[in-house]
Amino acid sequence: MSNKYKKIVVNNEVVIRLDDENIDYIIKDTKNLIKFCDKNNYNVSLIYNGKKIDEKYLKKDIKDNLRDMITIMHAINIKDKYKRYDYIYDTVCNYLDEKIKTNYCEFKDDVCLKYRIKNPNHKNGCCECKGRGKCKYLIDSVCTMKSCMACKLFTCHTLKKKGINQNINDFVLTKYFFNNKEKDILQFSYWTPKEIVMEKLIKRVR
Ligand code: SF4
Ligand code: SF4
Repeated sequence: MSNKYKKIVVNNEVVIRLDDENIDYIIKDTKNLIKFCDKNNYNVSLIYNGKKIDEKYLKKDIKDNLRDMITIMHAINIKDKYKRYDYIYDTVCNYLDEKIKTNYCEFKDDVCLKYRIKNPNHKNGCCECKGRGKCKYLIDSVCTMKSCMACKLFTCHTLKKKGINQNINDFVLTKYFFNNKEKDILQFSYWTPKEIVMEKLIKRVR
């Protein structure tokens, strides 16, 4: 992997020249890039194979690491912390929603894989559980909140045994833009609307 990567600053903008060789290396340096840009109030611009690229590129059929790099640039360029976190939260939730559409919990007639094995009369998977009861946002077996990152990330023991596992560090935006305590807030605030999670995160930077 190439490690040729210079932070060239032109008119308050860090210009990064990407190619297929150096992109993974640059992504691994994201924490330093965020620190450098936030400290100096710099934006980032990306040159990929000699051409300036922006978010419009996300609509194209591009490699995952290039997609990740564009979202990193976009997040760094949002200087308001609330708006930056809002973008990260929504972007990661969109990725997770796409995965949920594959029905990896194998729901059939509202009964998921785990409970088909454990108790086939139990509907609604982990949106309903012993002790805690049914989540108040679950109405007619449908999640009416739709914005809880922790719920979307959760994979139970049954899924893990099948090799289906999701983690807050699977996504560059949550991996690099938050510290461990903030990641815990995102990963473990189950049954909690986005606004409340955002409030908890923002309190940490005030
Ligand atoms: S995570 Fe496990 S318990 Fe929850 S819905 Fe999926 S299979 Fe069921
Ligand atoms: S908020 Fe979470 S627990 Fe509640 S219904 Fe939605 S996915 Fe299920």
